Amino acid sequence: MTPKMKRYSAFAIAREALRDHTGWERAWKKAQPKKRYDVVIVGAGGHGLATAYYLGKNFGITNVAIIEKGWLGGGNTGRNTTIIRSNYLQDPSAAIYEKARSLYETMSQDLNYNVMFSPRGVMMLAQTEHEVRGYQRTAHANALQGVTTEWISPARVKELVPIINLHGPRYPVLGALWQARAGSARHDAVAWGYARACSAMGMDIIQKCEVTGVMQENGRVTGVNTTKGDIACDKLGMVVAGHSSDLAAKAGFRLPIESVPLQALVSEPIKPCMDVVVMANTVHGYMSQSDKGEMVIGGGTDGHNGYTQRGSFHHVEETVRALVETFPMIGRLKMLRQWGGIVDVTGDRSPILSKTPVEGIFINAGWGTGGFKAIPGSGWGFAELMAKGHSPLTDEFGLNRFAEGRFIDESVAAGVAH
Ligand SMILES: Cc1cc2nc3c(=O)[nH]c(=O)nc-3n(C[C@H](O)[C@H](O)[C@H](O)COP(=O)(O)OP(=O)(O)OC[C@H]3O[C@@H](n4cnc5c(N)ncnc54)[C@H](O)[C@@H]3O)c2cc1C
Repeated sequence: MTPKMKRYSAFAIAREALRDHTGWERAWKKAQPKKRYDVVIVGAGGHGLATAYYLGKNFGITNVAIIEKGWLGGGNTGRNTTIIRSNYLQDPSAAIYEKARSLYETMSQDLNYNVMFSPRGVMMLAQTEHEVRGYQRTAHANALQGVTTEWISPARVKELVPIINLHGPRYPVLGALWQARAGSARHDAVAWGYARACSAMGMDIIQKCEVTGVMQENGRVTGVNTTKGDIACDKLGMVVAGHSSDLAAKAGFRLPIESVPLQALVSEPIKPCMDVVVMANTVHGYMSQSDKGEMVIGGGTDGHNGYTQRGSFHHVEETVRALVETFPMIGRLKMLRQWGGIVDVTGDRSPILSKTPVEGIFINAGWGTGGFKAIPGSGWGFAELMAKGHSPLTDEFGLNRFAEGRFIDESVAAGVAH
């Protein structure tokens, strides 16, 4: 099903300019909950909205509510540093992240909403012999998976990133894993684009509405209790990132997940100086330049569990120190703002896209520090799982893998990196 919405076009912009922008429709309708839906999705982040979108588009399921306790995109989706890549090690990961990356390529056209996807290339620096071996191994694995990446020399690194210092005080740059078609996108626009398309298909996006309980009968979900009243449903999708364990507990089961704060910061805007994304995992920091000119900087997670959307101050200091040795020129920049999100991390650093012990409840969680890049692939696969009971994209990411010891170990690709 293709959503029916008023199309944004150059003609529409010109027409609205002439009539003082009075003719734009709201991008998505404000909705109040109905008594019952076929599907309720909890969490209007990128993954929840993408799931709803592909439920409608690929399976014609549109009697759907997306329930959000804050505002849509206000969780990790609106707080991340927007790196998109698919250079993971294990086959199930490469499949879902590459599906996502390829959907990002056409997302603006598909949603008729400019998500500013910028395939500018992502570089992961190798600064120890161990990292060299790890990334060369990933490049070989990617070749077998059909994911285009390459191992590049320090000279090529310098050519692509003239501001880099190859001979830092602690670690030299020994080469890098390079994915030329990786990049970034505008995070809010991804959420807004999906929300607009979902609303156009007749779905209800209900903001400022918290799910406070899960109703069940004979081991099967029957609905949710919310701050705007009870809502009945046949199927429930839990897509709440940093609050996954909390919501699962309300439904009576536990998850192998830890929730930790992760933070990022941006500098004042400067002239264009770096047109790729660089990740330096040994010294622990990564950086890209936004379209406004700010240097967007991310670091690691706090070493303890927490639910503050802030993160510890010493991480800011360590991250900036790591980047100053990698890019000495940023030592002269002022930092503008810093913020945090709560990420849900699994033991094998891979997500959970799964049925649950309660019939009719499905969970999409555990994307940890790197789920923005996965949004369209995750939504595509999770919608198929919810509609048909399984999906080739999600089959390996079931909760049962933790009981069966069938881990999808991505600690090299995702433990530090994003
Ligand atoms: C600082 C930072 C940097 C990051 N950088 C990257 C990066 O560069 N690349 C990358 O790929 N990933 C990155 N990530 C990870 C990425 O942001 C997340 O994996 C992804 O956004 C998760 O999306 P989501 O839709 O699952 O969750 P969210 O966007 O967090 O959405 C979940 C929503 O559920 C809502 N909710 C929770 N509980 C309830 C309830 N009981 N009732 C109703 N609603 C509820 C929340 O309010 C929230 O809006 C980063 C994360 C952070 C914090």
